Amino acid sequence: MKLGIISDVHGNLEALEAVAGFLRQKGVVRFVCCGDIVGYGPDPNRCIEMIRGMGCVCVAGNHDHAVTGKTSLEGFNSAANRAVLWTRPLLTESNRLYLESLPFVVEEGPFLIVHSSPSAPGAWEYVLTAREAARQMAHFAGGVCVAGHSHQPFAVERPPEGRVRVVRDGNFDIRPAAKYFINAGSVGQPRDGDPRACCLLYDDRTQRMAYFRVPYDVAAVQAKIRAAGLPDTLAARLGAGC
Ligand code: ZN
Repeated sequence: MKLGIISDVHGNLEALEAVAGFLRQKGVVRFVCCGDIVGYGPDPNRCIEMIRGMGCVCVAGNHDHAVTGKTSLEGFNSAANRAVLWTRPLLTESNRLYLESLPFVVEEGPFLIVHSSPSAPGAWEYVLTAREAARQMAHFAGGVCVAGHSHQPFAVERPPEGRVRVVRDGNFDIRPAAKYFINAGSVGQPRDGDPRACCLLYDDRTQRMAYFRVPYDVAAVQAKIRAAGLPDTLAARLGAGC
């Protein structure tokens, strides 16, 4: 079975549609999402409805919980803050309840799925280095944890022998004796200098994990952000991918 792993859609419908279409074309039949369906982007309801329609297994992100009031806006920068306040009154009741119901952690086959970290999934800390990722490995029993939150696609492998190794992109095998902390990157607001939407594909037949970048209509989303009166910085950063 081929599993599509996505994260940090952030209300970017064009990016979500592009990624879902791409992964389906590659044979993906099941999807998981590491949280932050909403926030920043102009299409929160349609993104939630699409995720629900895909039967996507999803965990809560800090923006999902901020929009429902389950997490405070403390620590949100002004653009993030404005986007949360813009999103709140727009959400349908059904979509708000859906966001509220999202768990912090789910298990999907051999994977533990979280938004931020397995050690404190509701504290929204950032795992940005191999050292921090290696420390997180003490906090899950299985072999693989997949997270989002930082919008930085990278994977850290701890082999049974030898040193911790970073895989920044491309393909790698999930080896049964090794342990992994993997960041899925961001569909809707990449921050690694590549504006294309990021996603992961895992094939359980070959145990191969692969990052992909998928182009989408960035200009259309930028126009929607500006038309909605959301901060211009949110439009500009999509073009730069940072
Ligand atoms: Zn995010």
